[in-house]
Formats: sequence, C-alpha cells, structure tokens
Amino acid sequence: MSIKIITCKKSRIDKVDFQNLSFGKEFSDHIFITEFDGKNWVNKRIQPFEAIPLNITLSALHYGQSIFEGLKAFRDINNQIQIFRPKDNFIRMNKSANRMCMQEIPEDIFFSGLVELCKIDNKWISNIQGNSYYLRPLMFAIDDSFGVHASENYVFAIIGCAVGAYYSKNLKLKVETEFSRACIGGTGFAKTAGNYAASLLATKKANKEGYDQILWTDVIEHKYIEELGSSNIFLLYENKLITPNLRGTVLDGITRDSVIKLAITFGYSVEERVISIDEIIQLHTSNKLIEIFATGTAASVISIKELSYYGHSINLEIKENNLASKLKNKLEEIKLSKTDDIFNWNFHVKI
Ligand code: PMP
Repeated sequence: MSIKIITCKKSRIDKVDFQNLSFGKEFSDHIFITEFDGKNWVNKRIQPFEAIPLNITLSALHYGQSIFEGLKAFRDINNQIQIFRPKDNFIRMNKSANRMCMQEIPEDIFFSGLVELCKIDNKWISNIQGNSYYLRPLMFAIDDSFGVHASENYVFAIIGCAVGAYYSKNLKLKVETEFSRACIGGTGFAKTAGNYAASLLATKKANKEGYDQILWTDVIEHKYIEELGSSNIFLLYENKLITPNLRGTVLDGITRDSVIKLAITFGYSVEERVISIDEIIQLHTSNKLIEIFATGTAASVISIKELSYYGHSINLEIKENNLASKLKNKLEEIKLSKTDDIFNWNFHVKI
C-alpha cells in the first residue's frame, strides 16, 4: 500500500517531560489519515499533527456518526516496539462501524496506519516505567449536507500520544441509579462518541459528590451492574472471578478478555453472567467478597476501594499482593516481553 509521508518541520518532543506524563495531552508529531470518497479510501498519508480543515456542515457533528478505538504501544525490554492486541481493536472498530451504519475500515489500512505512525514517531514511545504510547484510531462522517442519513464520505485517522498512568489511586465508585448508559438493542457495545457524551452529566454529578467514577446499571431496574465510564468490572469471591456478561450494553473490553484468560491460567474459575447489586451486598455482608477491580486499556487493572449504592457503602481493604495487582503485573510483563507471550498478544513493529 502506498502511504505518502509528509514530515513535520520541527519535532515537539523536546518540550515533553516523559517523567511526568499525564493522560491524553502529549500528542506526537504526526498522524495517519485517509478519506473514504464514497468508493475508495484515498490519499493515505502520514502528516504533521496540526489542525485539519473541516466543513461546519460535516455530518458527524450533527448526526453523531463518530467512532474510535484505544490501544497502546510499548517499548519492551529489548528496545522493540510492541502493540498490544491490535487485531482485536481492528475487529471492534468495524463492529462499531457496522452498528453506526458507517464504512468499514480495511485491515491493511488499519495496520499500515498503526505501523507507519509508530515508526515515524517511535521516539515518543518511551521505556520509562508506566509510560506507553496510546494510539487513537477514529472515524467520522464528513458528508456536507443536512438530512438524517448514513454518510457516504468518511475520515479515518490515527493519533498517537505519549501517556503515563490513567489513575493514580484506587477508585471510589457510585452505583448509578438515576441516569442510564445503554439499553439492549442500543449502542452500548459500540465505541461511539455519543455513548461518552451521554455519560458526562452523571459522571460530573458523581465527581461532585466525591466519587471517582460511576458504575452503570441496567436501564430498567438499576439493579444489575454493567461497566464504568471507560472500563469493565470484575468481582472476586472464593476462587471465583465474575464479570457482567456481554448483552450488547457494555463494551467488549480487550483488557477484560485478557484478564479472563490470565485469571484462568492462575487457577481461578471465571463466570460471565448477570450480577445484581443485591448479590454484591450479600457477598460483602457474609464476608465473602474479596476484591473488586476495573479493567481497561488506559487504566490497565485498578482496584476499587469503595462502592456506594443509595448511600450504602461497601468498603474493601486493598491488600498489597491482591489479584488485581497480580493481573496488572502479568499484563505488563507480557507487554514488555519480560515473560512468554503465551497468547500471542503482542504485535511487533519493525523500525
Ligand atoms: N468500557 C468502556 C465504555 C470503554 O470506553 C473502555 C475503554 N475502551 C472499556 C470498557 C475497556 O475496554 P478495553 O479494555 O478494550 O480498553
């Protein structure tokens, strides 16, 4: 595939403090971008990270056809660049595209974009503990006329970003019982912009009340747990790890899947099923609940220290060597090639 390379005049990398990276602010020097003109993906290119001219009428702004992905590249202990499970993000992106009635992205374009961006901006992929290079593929509709219909024209782009840790502490969650995120038959399983916009008010309210995040529940009874704003959730009791099953209302998290597979190799039994708040309270009251943790590309694996339901708080003691930290460490060892990649999750980018 031919990709035009337009390099930036001056790198911004010298201005970046890699020892103190926050999440989502330090965009690397270039992006990958291509347009779908109704027939073909054209003008595939790497270009400088800068403002791009867009029409105020573009349909993504009005009718919401906009999807994205999030994945990470790492510099491993052998100084090689590894992207974690990109094929899964590619598959999920096209599931989102189908749900939102958008053009699918071909696999070779998705992968060439990732590879070329990692190659040209490889200096942004640091080997400092906890750092990584977050890759954000996105697609949005650019038809420039009014009227609700599926767009014929799209932009697909990939942005890269040097990032540090997403959360710096264990989380305090509010079980959401007023607002709803996704219903069966809706768009909950798609990584589409509107899902996130719809979550903001509830999250803002919870933040004001002192919570870090929301735990969404089902839309009908607000009794069955679903997921957090940008991560999936797991509970551990006895030797059992449980997580809400995929009913079309939660995102099919790639970290979720990795954690399920790793936990099985650790000897845990894993169940994907309906989990009610009542069950969680019961497990906690009978001293059976050991851990709750969240999983996601940005957050990796993070422990939950408190869960609040109508003001009733479940407090959990976070032990040093708990399952969440074992899973997080194992995942990191795989991403950094410190241990065997038994599931073949790493995709090596040759520089
Ligand atoms: N749920 C939502 C709503 C998310 O945005 C994310 C982040 N992509 C996740 C779960 C976790 O998915 P993953 O492990 O693939 O990052």
